[in-house]
Amino acid sequence: MLDNLGNLERTHSCGALRPGDVGKRVTLMGWVARRRDFGELTFIDLRDRDGVTQVVLNSEDAPAAHAKAKDVRGEYVLAVTGEVTLREESQRNVKLATGEVEVHARELLVLNDARTLPFQLETASNDSLASEDLRLKYRYLDLRRPQLQANLRLRHRMLREIRSYMDEQGFTELETPILIKSTPEGARDYIVPSRVQPGKFFALPQSPQLFKQLCMIAGLDKYFQIARCFRDEDLRADRQPEFTQLDVELSFATLDQIYSITEGLFARVFKLIGVELPLPFPRFTYAEAMRRWGSDKPDLRVAGMELQDLTPTLQGTDFAPYAAALAGGGVVKGIVLRGGATLSRKTLDDLQEFAKRYGAAGLAWIKLGDETTSSLLKPLGEEGVGKLAATASAAKGDAVLIVAGKSKVVAASLGALRNELARREKLIPANVYSPLWVTEFPMFEYHEDDDRYYAMHHPFTSPVDEDLSLLERAVDGGETDLLGQIRTKAYDPVINGVELASGSIRIHRRDVQRLVFKALGMTTEEARARFGFFLDALEFGTPPHGGIAPGIERLVMVLIGTENIRDVMAFPKTASATDLMIDAPGEVDQKQLDELHLKIVDKV
Ligand code: ASP
Repeated sequence: MLDNLGNLERTHSCGALRPGDVGKRVTLMGWVARRRDFGELTFIDLRDRDGVTQVVLNSEDAPAAHAKAKDVRGEYVLAVTGEVTLREESQRNVKLATGEVEVHARELLVLNDARTLPFQLETASNDSLASEDLRLKYRYLDLRRPQLQANLRLRHRMLREIRSYMDEQGFTELETPILIKSTPEGARDYIVPSRVQPGKFFALPQSPQLFKQLCMIAGLDKYFQIARCFRDEDLRADRQPEFTQLDVELSFATLDQIYSITEGLFARVFKLIGVELPLPFPRFTYAEAMRRWGSDKPDLRVAGMELQDLTPTLQGTDFAPYAAALAGGGVVKGIVLRGGATLSRKTLDDLQEFAKRYGAAGLAWIKLGDETTSSLLKPLGEEGVGKLAATASAAKGDAVLIVAGKSKVVAASLGALRNELARREKLIPANVYSPLWVTEFPMFEYHEDDDRYYAMHHPFTSPVDEDLSLLERAVDGGETDLLGQIRTKAYDPVINGVELASGSIRIHRRDVQRLVFKALGMTTEEARARFGFFLDALEFGTPPHGGIAPGIERLVMVLIGTENIRDVMAFPKTASATDLMIDAPGEVDQKQLDELHLKIVDKV
């Protein structure tokens, strides 16, 4: 028999009671985390979002409640009224905030029962949790775990902090529509068929990019939105098909203003975990970041380990693979692992396999142990190897790991290897936060597979003033190769190797926007069909403007130190973009399809 709540009210949460409350009569409500039965005495750990309190039921003092507690099982929902007492010294639990006290129950209401859970909430460690798929199917149960509750509370506190900061900075929170037309962030759109206009579709926003720019044209001056974004792309571990951004745009903004507003925001957010971020963040151009760390999101917690250019030392080499790389305009670079002379052959083989995943043809090595050993001894000789080690500034006891090839591949593989070595060799200091800006991203990226240029950020990003003439020459003068050299006013803040946001100063001139669309291979008609409304708007007095969009999930992930994006969202999807709990996407009935003028021709 279940009891009714009636008018009974909670007096405290399950995380609230302390020795100062001893003697009080309290009412707690929550779930049974654990029940232990010792005959005359029954102990129940009662849990709610704030914590756990030990409840004691004694057959002498409260026979009815004690008898009732016999039938109580895990996750039953209870209301307990009783007295707070101090636990005996030997019974105190220092790991629990309420561990010095317990509640001696007088009355017990069983508000609801519960089936046996499909998995255990409490496990010895995260490694022994049930499979993630099972937990996602019963997400509402998994969310009862204190860790996930704490993550979501932190997310809430962060959003509250963000809202007040943006308000203090003079920004207005606005909502932009969800049912829109394709937006250009480079992923596929989720589309929604229109019932009233047969054969037409809305797209869900990949970001509110054009709307926020239109807000600037509208004179709204400083806009922000906690915006849901939808991207249909092949998912990686840290991606979700829908996610949240703090979307920001402001008019008449300089780069410095945007940097300092963003830094202030991050500083405020990191205070939530007691971290004072070092301000201002150092700035590195994309070219410098790629040259020094092989990455546009370098982890600067890792000291040194910068890429060393060995190309000049190898000019004129007759070692065929290197000669071929250099002849093709490529480079040879290495990184030094201090103390790496002890790396085993097996580890070196593993590292070579790792580098190959990033396109490297191979990974050469030099180990400066008691004697120098190297995979390059045969082709380059002792002297050649010694020269390379010296150029790389390697010292006795170190190892040098070397990749040759196109500079993009060399950067990607050595950049990834740097992170991998730091992880394996435990070179990442704990509780350190190393922010930086990466600036001046290239405007276009050449894709060999379809032999054309794509916008690296998005096509509304402004080139740096000095490179505007390159854009003109490339588009109107036919010097297409120049496209790869154009730098933009785009910037990413990065912390501990995680790109936390993307942003740029936008194009506000109609003529420049036209050039960019043309560079991307869009005809005038295509540009009009896709972005006509926006091109029109650009002609009515568009102020210079720019903005940025920090990823909310990424931020919370860095704050709590998790690599799993599902740890920071209430109801996430799997890596194959399905919701296992509600079983979505699902089928719709024929009537709905007919109304939408849709016909399924080939179900995959
Ligand atoms: N719309 C961009 C994005 O979603 C951010 C920006 O440029 O403000 O990445």
